[in-house]
Amino acid sequence: MTKVPPGRRAAELRALLHQASYEYYVLDRPALSDAEYDRLFRELQTIEKEHPELRTADSPTQRVGAEPASALAKHTHLVPMISLGNAFTEAELADWEERIARLVGDDARRAGFVAELKIDGTAVSLTYENGVFVKGATRGNGTVGEDVTANLRTLRDVPLRLRGDDVPRLLEIRGEVYMPFTKFEKMNEERVAAGEPVFANPRNSAAGALRQLDPSITAKRPLRFFGYTVAVPPGVTLPFDTQWGLLEALQRWGIPVAPGRKCCKSLPEVNEWARDVEARVRAELDFGIDGGVIKVDSLRLQDELGVVGGREPRWAIARKFAPDIAETTLLDIQVNVGRTGALNPFAVLEAVEIGGTTVRLATLHNFDLVRAKDLRRGDRVLVKRAGDVIPQVIGPIPEKRDANDPPPKTRTPTKCPSCGTKVERDEEEVAIYCPNVACPGRQLEALVHFASRHAMDIRGLSYARIEQLIAASLVHDVADIYALTVEQLLTLERFAETSAQNLVDAITASRAQPLSRLLFGLGVRHVGQTAAQLLARHFGSMEALRRATVDDILALRGVGETIAIAVVAYFNDASSIALVKKLERAGLTMTEPVAVAAGGAFKGMTAVVTGTLPTLSRAQATELIESQGGRVTSGVSKATTFLVVGADAGSKLDKARQLGVETIDEAELLRRAATPDTE
Ligand code: NAD
Repeated sequence: MTKVPPGRRAAELRALLHQASYEYYVLDRPALSDAEYDRLFRELQTIEKEHPELRTADSPTQRVGAEPASALAKHTHLVPMISLGNAFTEAELADWEERIARLVGDDARRAGFVAELKIDGTAVSLTYENGVFVKGATRGNGTVGEDVTANLRTLRDVPLRLRGDDVPRLLEIRGEVYMPFTKFEKMNEERVAAGEPVFANPRNSAAGALRQLDPSITAKRPLRFFGYTVAVPPGVTLPFDTQWGLLEALQRWGIPVAPGRKCCKSLPEVNEWARDVEARVRAELDFGIDGGVIKVDSLRLQDELGVVGGREPRWAIARKFAPDIAETTLLDIQVNVGRTGALNPFAVLEAVEIGGTTVRLATLHNFDLVRAKDLRRGDRVLVKRAGDVIPQVIGPIPEKRDANDPPPKTRTPTKCPSCGTKVERDEEEVAIYCPNVACPGRQLEALVHFASRHAMDIRGLSYARIEQLIAASLVHDVADIYALTVEQLLTLERFAETSAQNLVDAITASRAQPLSRLLFGLGVRHVGQTAAQLLARHFGSMEALRRATVDDILALRGVGETIAIAVVAYFNDASSIALVKKLERAGLTMTEPVAVAAGGAFKGMTAVVTGTLPTLSRAQATELIESQGGRVTSGVSKATTFLVVGADAGSKLDKARQLGVETIDEAELLRRAATPDTE
């Protein structure tokens, strides 16, 4: 392959990047992914570094954003609004620190850094005169932006007047306008319902909404704002001298500041923060970020370090993450029949790299959402993957459909894809169900759940093996497992004497699992692990539970109506009764051992529960303590044995600390309940 001369390649890249910026900033309709843009941008930067003579004044590497190009009035910023340099790796961040140290010695290292989330929105500047909001503008080309004052006034979190008496007389507050994910999705669903096209992603719809000529349109879009810096005319002194102090002042003045920020003493601390944000925090946020911004904390040093080429400050850098949204093709929409019969649609995607992982499948939740988003086979779609969460399809990019031959709309199935039974819809739920208890799709999932770790815990009974057993007609329902013999298993592929014997032994051992696990394993609708435990402890035996009425079950604290109705409905179904009988004949344990004969793990103890526990409701925790002989009261006193503490605990936790009362978390409560202390 002949190498393209650098001059020609640079010109090519300039043209590509100019076009991309125009589509991104002016039309709010990017044609390239951000990762692709960043890659081309870096390529141009590298060529320009090696051949400085090729750097032209109009190179995208020398500019910020794009020329403001709408019918909106222009606004000249008090101080230019700049962009940021990027560090894609820890090594690049270390290089940045090194460059700073060369300029200002070790001062920056001593002063420390502030790490902030890099909000993936659109930059704006808010001018306040005597504390009153007078002008709002987009960043534009950095020097001149568009006047969007009327639009910004519609944002509820942009204060029209700042609070406090230390606000400089003339002040520009810079920050990011963004759209929360949940609001974005709801807005798109409403647009589908109204027959309007959906927006591709939160960033571009935020930017587009902000640049509307009619503020009443902006007002209807769920825009939010976070502030992160200020600009003042020369000579004005600010009431803080660090970036951290600046963020605190913004909050004091009534400006929302993004969560997740950290004051870091050293670069390793910054790296640790960034790793945590990328791996964990990012998945929990309701807004998009594309990295972190690392800033030298001291404002004096920031001044001293200044700006490179009018584009990037030396004192701050974007620590960019791998993108968590990517574009790909929706190859197919398939359906999985869950153990309760719910038909769960999922997307089969053309393989795409997101955040360092190859994604091929994504959840589509339910058919109502597929319809609301108007997802069609063959569509180009945006897929989001955050942390360990299952990847999700955000929505289609309808503009990318072939206008002459658009794919047909997706139909909600009327029959179960596994057994062909007509589906049913639960009135209160969005899911559609296959009502056939003998449906092979349901059977597979039911068996997998039954054998799972938190249910009957049958080691070796994996998904693949269950598929094999169903295919060989050896099992149809969960009770059939107990009739399996070593000889039968040996007729199947991939089974040898030892593995067959081990599996039969594991199945035999599971007969001793208590009622609570069996109940959970049966997959009664709405009955999760905790409800199964509460029911088993309270009723003691399968027979007693079978005879219970809705009211009997409702009398149990921590169990609501939905569960009570589902349990009674289960035992009113002839096929479930037959299954339970079959399990009983197979020798399974149908009772729950009484916690501790002597009165329970919490006998004689007085407990208080406060805050939100990770899995148990307050009522369930109370029920658990009471079922094991404890008493639960509402206030902490000297008589309290222990306080169970959840998230956002308030005054009770303070009181317990004052009185020296022991505090434990949910995990410890469950541990003590499971292994009663009989000393
Ligand atoms: P940038 O988005 O990489 O970073 C600078 C901006 O970050 C600032 O202007 C500010 O608005 C924002 N920011 C968010 N949180 C911040 C915080 N806490 N502190 C300071 N600033 C914060 O740079 P840019 O110049 O706005 O845009 C360039 C980027 O835009 C590219 O890297 C690319 O990802 C994207 N882009 C994409 C296309 C495309 O075609 N897909 C085209 C042009 C630009």
